[in-house]
Amino acid sequence: REIFAEETIDSVCPFCGVGCLTSVSVADGRIVSVEGRNGPANENRLCVKGRFGFDYVSSPERLTKPLIRRDDAPKRGDISMTLENHLDFFREATWEEALEKAAGGLKASFEAKGGAGVAGFGSAKGSNEEAYLFQKLIRQGFQTNNVDHCTRLCHASSVAALMEGIGSGAVTAPFNAAEDADCMIVIGARPEQNHPVAATYIKQAAKKGTKLIVMDPRGQGLMRHADYGLKFKPGTDVAMLNAILNVIITEELYDSQYIAAHVDGFETLKEKIRDFTPEAMEPVCGIGADTLREVARLYATSAKSIIYWGMGVSQHVHGTDNVRCLIAMALTTGQIGRPGTGLHPLRGQNNVQGASDAGLIPMVFPDYRSVESADIRSEFEDAWGRTLDPVRGLTVVEIMNDILSGGIEAMYIQGENPAMSDPDQSHARKALASLKHLVVQDIFLTETAWHADVILPASAHAEKLGTYTNTNRQVQIGRPCVPMPGEAREDWTILIDIANRLGLDWSYDGVPAIYEEMRSHMASLKNISWERLEREGTVTYPADAPDVPGNEILFGQSFPTADGRGKIVPTDLVPPDELPDDDFPLVLTTGRMLEHWHTGAMTRRAAVLDAIEPEPVVSMNPRDIKLAGLDIGQQVTVETRRGAITLTLRADRDVSAGMLFVPFCFFEAPANFLTNPQLDPFGKIPEFKFCAARIGPA
Ligand code: SF4
Repeated sequence: REIFAEETIDSVCPFCGVGCLTSVSVADGRIVSVEGRNGPANENRLCVKGRFGFDYVSSPERLTKPLIRRDDAPKRGDISMTLENHLDFFREATWEEALEKAAGGLKASFEAKGGAGVAGFGSAKGSNEEAYLFQKLIRQGFQTNNVDHCTRLCHASSVAALMEGIGSGAVTAPFNAAEDADCMIVIGARPEQNHPVAATYIKQAAKKGTKLIVMDPRGQGLMRHADYGLKFKPGTDVAMLNAILNVIITEELYDSQYIAAHVDGFETLKEKIRDFTPEAMEPVCGIGADTLREVARLYATSAKSIIYWGMGVSQHVHGTDNVRCLIAMALTTGQIGRPGTGLHPLRGQNNVQGASDAGLIPMVFPDYRSVESADIRSEFEDAWGRTLDPVRGLTVVEIMNDILSGGIEAMYIQGENPAMSDPDQSHARKALASLKHLVVQDIFLTETAWHADVILPASAHAEKLGTYTNTNRQVQIGRPCVPMPGEAREDWTILIDIANRLGLDWSYDGVPAIYEEMRSHMASLKNISWERLEREGTVTYPADAPDVPGNEILFGQSFPTADGRGKIVPTDLVPPDELPDDDFPLVLTTGRMLEHWHTGAMTRRAAVLDAIEPEPVVSMNPRDIKLAGLDIGQQVTVETRRGAITLTLRADRDVSAGMLFVPFCFFEAPANFLTNPQLDPFGKIPEFKFCAARIGPA
């Protein structure tokens, strides 16, 4: 039946960090179609997720009432992780009862153990205002910095290296800068799948003659448009990038003037990089010395070169080192601070940039201001009227470890699904199961909610007002399009009710009031008032004045470091934590797929998307399939030292010999039962991109 829209509302896509602006058509209180709008990041374009992934909002599986765990439900540690109806373990409750129980349990643990007993995961799917309120609630209410979110699992290592090297964790140029570039490097990123609209800009630039270098251990469609496609050995990024730096230095392709004016650490790099000749690194990374030389020359001598990267770079125990190499390439050649140049870590979730900016991380308050600085802390103590924790909090994986060591005993999780997204799921789910008190606020009964004591039914993106900051640093307004189902409530109002039950005396008369309080602590938003956002719809931060456009290109003159200079940090080879051996001879890597987004909680409930990719698959090179005596399409078991999952075998020539690829969006076969929780020491990000595995018939 043809449905005619009664109303069309301007909003923003809820999925990836590209931040496409949308027009949402609504009839009978339901979304009936989504079109692209002329936003700065998408110019009317949308990908399959943005266009067809909207019906999760009206899914019959939406949580519509507060739930409390039944007294006769199985203990959380005894829950079978199969598809049985976990709703049976809960009873419906009134909001009053659920909020009392939620806040009461958190308060009891705080009174028993202080801040060390409590932690919170906020969400990059929520708005900036919700991220701000969530970190404020944990810091003010429980006097702890144990608050984190999914950035820890995606670009934490990028942010660590960028803060160290150039004093800012955000991109220095938007991805659309491809239009001005002469040379683009895309490394460890698969924008055609994960940032599809950004990929269109990269491909268009390549078609117009911009040189494209794609570096990825797995082949990908973007390589068809590339001048160089480097399928390097997994986990050898530093070897490959240091060889490129070696060429830049030995062939004197660097920019001496730029270095003298803006960069520290060049002499140390010069010394350290000597041994990383292309010939020495060729057997390590698998890329020929001549190719490494050509790529180095192309990047360094092009008038304007830009680097894009993704989780293939960041999710390693040497993730921070990988990004240090990329920063060193940009700083030695002066390929930063001008149109068509720069460093761009492509952000995963639609608001991971904004949630990080808003302080939803354990080391910093809003705008990346250190919790360890007495001056900064006293500003927030004065504003919030409480003594705050002077010590950095624990990160995502550290929180799980601490629970099992008997430390943290109560958690508040809003819109995150660590029971699917954390590495080594048996360990993570055991940790969730051993909490004394778990409050989960979400729109679905997620795998994490299975473990909860109290579940608070929350709002989907399309049901509430809020701002979201995309990978380009563009702050954009998302608007309510449809009503919330049943008794579900906007997340920010739930946070206020919890805060007031903790005695924090919060009062906000709406989202703009929260935004303005957040802005009072964030210099980056100084000239971007709520009124301006309402007027312009999207504004890039930072903006120099209330009436001038934001700065798309940053750091032309200086960096926001103590002395205004950038810093090169040389790196050594650090092998992946778990190498293949006789028992586990293959390399397993995990990631996303075009149709499904992250843990699949939303896209698996979007009919069109789930119809295209309905079942868990492991991809393997067709030759390896033959050698292993397996058949395409058969059920196989993939196993690592941490667990085993059963799924369907798919042939994929892009997967190199000796590798397996498993997407992490399928609850029926959670890839993260297999992954290695070993952390990068700086960014504290787990090594999702490399562990030893084996495969056999199921
Ligand atoms: Fe949404 Fe990202 Fe696709 Fe744009 S590219 S429509 S933001 S998922």
